[in-house]
Amino acid sequence: MKPDFPSFSTRPTVRINLQTIRENYEALKKRVGTAKIGASVKADAYGLGSVPVGKALYGAGCRIFFVATAGEGKILRDGIGPNAAIYVLSGPAPRDKGVLLGAKLKPVINSMGQARFWASVAREVNEPPYTAIHIDTGMNRLGMTAAEVTELGRDKKLWQALNPDWVMSHLACAPDADHPMNKKQLTEFRKAAAQLPLTPLSLANTAGIYLGKPYHFQMVRPGIGLYGGKATTKPDEEVSKSAVSLLAPILQIRELKKGETVGYNATFIASEDMRIAIVGAGYADGVPVRASNRGTAILHDMEVPIVGRVSMDFTALDVSKARLSVEIGGVAVFRGDNLEHEAEQLGTLNYELLTRLGQRCRRDYGR
Ligand SMILES: *Cc1c(COP(=O)(O)O)cnc(C)c1O
Repeated sequence: MKPDFPSFSTRPTVRINLQTIRENYEALKKRVGTAKIGASVKADAYGLGSVPVGKALYGAGCRIFFVATAGEGKILRDGIGPNAAIYVLSGPAPRDKGVLLGAKLKPVINSMGQARFWASVAREVNEPPYTAIHIDTGMNRLGMTAAEVTELGRDKKLWQALNPDWVMSHLACAPDADHPMNKKQLTEFRKAAAQLPLTPLSLANTAGIYLGKPYHFQMVRPGIGLYGGKATTKPDEEVSKSAVSLLAPILQIRELKKGETVGYNATFIASEDMRIAIVGAGYADGVPVRASNRGTAILHDMEVPIVGRVSMDFTALDVSKARLSVEIGGVAVFRGDNLEHEAEQLGTLNYELLTRLGQRCRRDYGR
C-alpha cells in the first residue's frame, strides 16, 4: 500500500506508532508472566523520543525506566511525572549529583568507587533515592567484579546507605540462545546475588526474554523489542511488531542516459538508460553513507537500490523498474519492516539505524 504523506514537504519524517509500541510492551509483558518490565529508553528511546515514548509506556502501565545518563533521566522525569522509577545506567558522577537528587533519579551502582561516592551523598540528604546494584557476570562493560560483590556483601553499613531495590546484571550473548555464555552468566549472577542481602533481581534485555523463564527473575529490561526491532537470531519467534519508519519525499525525477554518473565522486555510472528519483533524506537524517551503492529503500512495496553516494540531505534511488508511477511528492520508505534487512545490508545493527535517525526529521506520532 502506498504510504500517505500528509501535505507534501521536503522534510523527511520519522513515523513512530505509539500504539504499536504499547502493544509490543503488552506482548513482552505477557511473555514474562509476573516479572516486571523496566523499559530501556536510553538514547532518547533509541532515537524515537523519550518523552512521547515514555508517556505511551507509562500509559500502558510501565513504572520502571532505564536511561544511560542523568541528563536523559531529567528530561524523562519532566515528561512523565513523579510516579515512575528512573534508573541511570552509567551510575552516579560527582557532577550529576544535583540532577540525580533534584529529579529523583536512581543511580545504578557499577563499582565500589561509585558505591562509596553515592553512599557519601546519600548520608547527606533526607530521602536519598533507592539504587540498583549492577554486577558484571562476564560482559566486562560496567558492573562490580566478583571481588567487589564479596566486599559489598560484607559491608552492611554501605549496603544500608545505598539502599538498593534491585540487583542486576547484563547478558553479552543473549541473541544466540545456544551460546554457552548465557548459562555461564546465569550461574555467575545467581552466585553473586547469593552474597548480597535478598533483593529483587534483573538480568534480561529483549533477547534475554527469549532465553526463557530462568532468565526473567523479577524484572526484564527490554529496549529494542519495545520499538519493534528484532533482537535474536530467530526473529520469526519474536512478538514485537515494527513501529518506526523513515519517510523521504521524492523531490525530483531524472532520466539518465547510459554513461552518465550520479552524485559526489561519480561513484555510480549508468550502464544503460535509466530513471532515478532524488529523495529528501541523507546521512544527516539517518541514511548512512555506507548505504551508498549498497542499501535500498522501499517504494510502493518494492525494494529499490540506492545509487551513487548518499549525501547530507539527499539520496538517489534507481526507480527504472518501479511498476507504479513515481511522482514528486511521493514517498520512499527506509526502516519499517525492512529495518533488519537494512542493518544486514549495511553491516550494522538495527539499534544503530534507529539511534542515528536525524534530529532534523519531523517526528510524527500519528496524533
Ligand atoms: C540497553 C540495555 C538494555 C536493553 O537492551 P535491548 O537489547 O535493547 O533490549 C537492558 N539492560 C542494559 C544494562 C542495557 O544497557
